[in-house]
Amino acid sequence: MTKSNLPSEELRSYCLSLVEIKALRIFNVIECRSFLFLPVFMTVSDEIAVFTCLNEQELAEVEKIIRRKLKLIRQVSKEELFDLIDYVYSKLGLKLETAKTEKPQISHPVIPELLASKEGELLKNLLEYQVSNSISDLYFVPLKSGVEVSIKTAMNTTSKSTELLSEEAYSKILNILKVLSNLNFATSAPYLEGSFRLTLFGNQYSFRVSIVSTLHGKTTTIRQLSRSEMLDLTELTPIKSQIGILLELLKQPGKLKFIAGPMGSGKTTLLYAVLKQFAKTNFVITIEDPPEIDLEEICQIPVRKDFDYACALKAVLRHNPDHIALGELRDSQTLKTAEQACALGHSILATIHAGDLVAFRTRIEALSGNWDLLKPNITCVVFTRLYPKICQKCRIVDLKNSELENKTLFTSPGCERCSFTGVVGKILIFEIYSGGSSFQLEGLSFKEQCASLARKGLIRIA
Ligand SMILES: [Zn+2]
Repeated sequence: MTKSNLPSEELRSYCLSLVEIKALRIFNVIECRSFLFLPVFMTVSDEIAVFTCLNEQELAEVEKIIRRKLKLIRQVSKEELFDLIDYVYSKLGLKLETAKTEKPQISHPVIPELLASKEGELLKNLLEYQVSNSISDLYFVPLKSGVEVSIKTAMNTTSKSTELLSEEAYSKILNILKVLSNLNFATSAPYLEGSFRLTLFGNQYSFRVSIVSTLHGKTTTIRQLSRSEMLDLTELTPIKSQIGILLELLKQPGKLKFIAGPMGSGKTTLLYAVLKQFAKTNFVITIEDPPEIDLEEICQIPVRKDFDYACALKAVLRHNPDHIALGELRDSQTLKTAEQACALGHSILATIHAGDLVAFRTRIEALSGNWDLLKPNITCVVFTRLYPKICQKCRIVDLKNSELENKTLFTSPGCERCSFTGVVGKILIFEIYSGGSSFQLEGLSFKEQCASLARKGLIRIA
């Protein structure tokens, strides 16, 4: 790759002298950074003249994705390119704003076109199926003979497609996903992670994408993230008495509060729902890796390689927020900083990987080493669980079990609404322990909550 010899200022003014608003308007900054080029002007043959750090071959790959002809007019280094993109767009940003009134600017001009392709349609159909059936994960697994598409159902079982996807179609879907998630598709990195938002059925949904190289190609997981408007505590948990206890403990000033649970138990969902509630009257800052849901009312800080949890936490203390939330507590330095922050009267909420009190203590001891010193600083620990929700359309009284338990219990044979699985969506419940000399259960235990939910016909007792 040839590195430009021009000093930055000179390169900037040279680039600026060539740039036409018309070309800039075709892409936004995020797209330029993801495609690794800067559109400069339109040639007479309607090609987009670009500054880029890609070579001709890589540029040809980009052309296929954006379905536009590109003309390399200047090769620059990646650092120079990013500098130029920021410089040119900020310099001409004002003109772009005014240009809006003449012609509406489309934020992602390439995406609707991509989704209109055959593979784009297929991906959209799969995502629509995923959101309408509350499916958490959608997988693409490359096998020797083709690519298998499968889903993780609400019952945590995997259901596989009967037909395999061709490698060619899958490679196109991968490219679309990379564009949607602003991932660098020219990279040969063995692991890529990103997220995107898409409007389906008139609502906006968020997805997280993870792509990993395997023996037979790249395997992809698309996880559906909870939507901001779904983060209503009363919607998430049908046991209202628990909500009052939870909020009362979590909103106490100072000290550490934990939301704990195994992987996929709804810790982050509960954390977000609580923060959303707090943000109505309080200043809330979160530090996350990365923020899973974009919440307008909350100030969310993503951690980076050079700005980790501990660094970010130190920095936000100066802002004096009412509540600071940590996406996940997983290193001793962060725990130490959090302890110091609590000593200064700050309220810290953190999620942590631990299924019960014993596991929680083990985790904390592994991080801090001194349980007795830390314990007085913990206001509460909340454990979360997710249960598949019985399909309300096909549910029936479970005569066999009802006789056994001498109570009305329900089951669901399956219908079209629940894709014959008998369940639709999930119910989040939590068990709350307040801190002090020993941890004390506040409110109902998981067992009591499950029994109550089963009697209401919301979940099944296994
Ligand atoms: Zn059903």
